[in-house]
Amino acid sequence: MRRVVILGTGGTIAGTAQDPSRQWAYRAAQLSVSQLVEAVPELEGVPLETVQVAQVDSKDMSWSVWRALGRALHEHLERDEVAGVVITHGTDTLEETAYLLQALHDGAKPVVLTAAMFPATSPHADGPTNLRDAVRVVQEAAQRCLGGVVAVMHGRVWSAGAVRKSHTHAPDAFDGGDAPPLVTLKREPVELEEDVVKALSRLGFRAQGAGAAEPAEESWTSVWHRCGRWGWGYLEADPPRVEIVCSHADADGWIVRAMLAQAQTTTRPLRGIVVAGTGHGTIHAGLTEALREAACQGVTVWRSSRVARGGVLPREGDEWPGVPHLTAAQARVALMLSLLGVSFMA
Ligand code: ASP
Repeated sequence: MRRVVILGTGGTIAGTAQDPSRQWAYRAAQLSVSQLVEAVPELEGVPLETVQVAQVDSKDMSWSVWRALGRALHEHLERDEVAGVVITHGTDTLEETAYLLQALHDGAKPVVLTAAMFPATSPHADGPTNLRDAVRVVQEAAQRCLGGVVAVMHGRVWSAGAVRKSHTHAPDAFDGGDAPPLVTLKREPVELEEDVVKALSRLGFRAQGAGAAEPAEESWTSVWHRCGRWGWGYLEADPPRVEIVCSHADADGWIVRAMLAQAQTTTRPLRGIVVAGTGHGTIHAGLTEALREAACQGVTVWRSSRVARGGVLPREGDEWPGVPHLTAAQARVALMLSLLGVSFMA
C-alpha cells in the first residue's frame, strides 16, 4: 500500500480546551499533527507520514502559510511511494485554501482537506472521524486513479471549488453552494455516550454519526472536478493586494475612497477589489461611483454576491465581471491569482 502524507496546519481539529465542558472556550492549533494521528486507532498500521507545515488558527491564514503548503505539496506529491496528501486545516478559511490548491495542483494525485468543528479535547470531537475519513478518501481515490482537491467533512466529500462553510457552529457545517457532495461516505455509526447525545441535542445539534445521512452504498464519481494545473511556483510570488468590500444599505463608497487614499503610501498597493454585492452582484449607486474612481486608478473590480447560493452569472453590459459559483472569499483568491497571470474558474 502506498503512503499517505498528512500535512498539519492547525485549526480547531488541533485545538484544546482547559475545561472541555465549556463548549467554545478553547484555543485552536495546539496539538501536533502526529498527536492527531495517534488519537485515531483506525489509522494504526496505515502507512502514514506526518509533516507540521504550520500551526495557525485558520482565521489568521496567510499567503506565507499557503506558500509553505505549496512547497510541501510539491515535495511529497512528486514521490512515487506517496498515494496522496491529507491537509488538516481550520474550518474558517478552508474554502479559500481549497480553491487556491485546486487552481495550482496538476490533478494527478488526491489532495484532501479536512477539519473539525469541535476541539480535540471535546467529548464529541469530530476531528478523529474526519481525519480517518480523509485518509480513506485518499486511499480510495488513488485506487480509482482520481486526482484533484476535495474537502472531507462530516461524512461528505466536497469539490474544492464549491465547498464553503455554511454554518457557524453545527458539526455539519459545510456545503457545496449549488453543488451536491461528490460522495457521501458510508460510515460505521459512532457510538456516543447518552449524556453526550443529550448535550448535543440540547444545543440543537444532531449527534455525529447518529442520524447523519448514511447511504446504503457509496457511489464514487469517475472524475473529480478539473484542476487548473498552474503549478505551485505561483505561490513564490509576492501576493497582490486584493480587498473585499460589501455592498449594503448606505454603502456610499467611503471605504473605497479611504483605501485609495492609502494606496500610494503602502508597499503593497491596492490592485483589486472584490465586491460582495447584493443579489445577483448588484452594487449600491454610492459605492459604484467610488469603484469607478478605483477602476480609473488601475484597480481591477470583480463582482460576487453576499447571497449564499447562485453566484453571479455574466450578463451583457456588465460594467465589471461577475464571479459565478465562488464565495466572495474564494473570488478574492481567484482575483489575486488572475493578477499573477493564473486564469482559473472552478
Ligand atoms: N478558528 C478555527 C480555524 O479556522 C475554527 C475551526 O477550525 O473550526 O482554525
